[in-house]
Amino acid sequence: MVVGDISTGTEVLVIGGGPGGYVAAIRGGQLGLDVTLVEADAYGGTCLNDGCIPSKALIHVSGLAHEVEHAESMGLHARADVDMQGLVGWKDGVVDQLTGGVEKLCKANGVNLLSGRAEFVDEHTARVVHGGDGQGSESIEFEHAIVATGSRPIELPGLAFDGERILSSADVLSLESLPESLLVVGGGYIGMELSTMLAKLGTEVTVVEMLDDILPGYDEDVTRLVRKRAEGLGIEFHFGEAAQGWEEVAAAARVRTETEDGETSEYTAERVLVAVGRQPASDTCNVEAAGVESTDRGVIETDDAARTTVEHIYAVGDVAGEPMLAHTAYREGHVAAEVIAGEPSRLDYQAIPAAVFTDPEIGTVGLSAAEAEAEGFEPVVGEMPFRASGRALTLGIEEGFVRIVADAETEFVLGGQIVGPEASELIAEVGLAIEMGARLEDIAATIHTHPTLSEAVGEAAANARGAATHTLNR
Ligand code: FAD
Ligand code: NAD
Repeated sequence: MVVGDISTGTEVLVIGGGPGGYVAAIRGGQLGLDVTLVEADAYGGTCLNDGCIPSKALIHVSGLAHEVEHAESMGLHARADVDMQGLVGWKDGVVDQLTGGVEKLCKANGVNLLSGRAEFVDEHTARVVHGGDGQGSESIEFEHAIVATGSRPIELPGLAFDGERILSSADVLSLESLPESLLVVGGGYIGMELSTMLAKLGTEVTVVEMLDDILPGYDEDVTRLVRKRAEGLGIEFHFGEAAQGWEEVAAAARVRTETEDGETSEYTAERVLVAVGRQPASDTCNVEAAGVESTDRGVIETDDAARTTVEHIYAVGDVAGEPMLAHTAYREGHVAAEVIAGEPSRLDYQAIPAAVFTDPEIGTVGLSAAEAEAEGFEPVVGEMPFRASGRALTLGIEEGFVRIVADAETEFVLGGQIVGPEASELIAEVGLAIEMGARLEDIAATIHTHPTLSEAVGEAAANARGAATHTLNR
């Protein structure tokens, strides 16, 4: 039945129910705004349905399986039989619990939820086309809008996703059987996290990366440990080669690559994951009709209040560009809602952490020593290796380190890089230090529980002051 056009009004229209959009909607509801959130697909967006959560669930289980199978030196002899359907079913349950939670939280905060695709008609009107069989559309007048339409994987010419041979990260996260072999195009966040996960489950993995190292943007002594461990898991790397295209050969894909000098190579695998970055999805809601501009790459540029070039229209999350991380989207969503509600909230990217859930994990925040120097600081660096941490050794881990960067003169903490166990959790302490304007002494004098990995953060800060006790001072 066609319901036809109805017309409604809202104070704040949020387009997209991922981490940027649902957080903006909930915060707006908390602040007493009349908010309507429109989602075309599934609440929770990429993060909950096809990104952070499903990948971390599978990474956790692959780590467990691998760990129990490789603990002979600790006196543990065990075998892990992986039932891929059971594993993916469990992961889907985690996703359902969280996406259901988002819907409940939105409703509990008074957010009106609408299913459908929203498109701007002009700068104060949008049309929402409902899914399903001819369920019609509705027109919504709004005072403010927040665009939170996210991003999608970049598709390489010659390697279009088909869900069979050429897979996106979303396809890999829902595999019902383990491929015997996988070629991964791109050694960035997704390529490295998912390669590690599948190699631990028993897939033969080859990574082709266009640059000369994995994880662009991270320090070499950090990536080296991840690469070395990945090689130890049997992952084969080919650097300086860009994937160009593929052909089907005997129930497998043969992928062609080319170096800058025009040298070509071919790799054959049962399946191929293409993870060469994501592009903002600014083309899903006709932003031009509202007068909102986007760059050639599709980024909707914003100011420190998350405002676009149109005063009453905001953009948050991946659609507003790098860094494309869920916690950045959360923060931007918060700020947009608070600014609309009249609060003096502003974005500050100084202490945005990043974590890579590889083995070992990486956690970074703030400035590296080189970045600090480039910004005119005279940095002092303190380090604590995990081989000197009692807790790390009890976990069977001897590699990695915590590094803290501070300004030599004032001792203000400027940044941290951690590679090792639970780096994604440990980095939070350094982020808090930067956010609070803490000095090295504040971290060093904080009593950390023994025996924990967090002691290494305290020791790294002490090391920068020449006062570490469990490692030699520099
Ligand atoms: P999205 O989550 O993409 O949500 C956008 C939503 O908008 C979607 O639900 C979409 O259906 C909806 N939408 C689009 N157009 C319309 C329209 N016209 N009308 C209505 N609805 C619309 N980040 C981390 O911080 N940590 C991680 O560990 C991490 N792991 C990741 C792993 C993978 C495999 C991937 C792919 C990403 C990962 N990310 C991670 C990145 C993270 O998922 C994104 O940064 C985050 O989801 C961005 O949130 P968002 O709200 O901007 O967009
Ligand atoms: P990425 O930008 O991290 O890495 C892409 C890699 O592909 C780069 O190293 C690039 O040099 C390489 N590349 C590009 N074209 C190529 C080609 N033709 N052949 C071979 N290599 C090629 O992108 P991603 O891994 O797709 O991840 C996308 C985004 O998702 C990330 O930037 C991040 O914002 C987000 N993400 C975050 C996390 C996390 O926070 N832990 C995890 C996964 C994804």
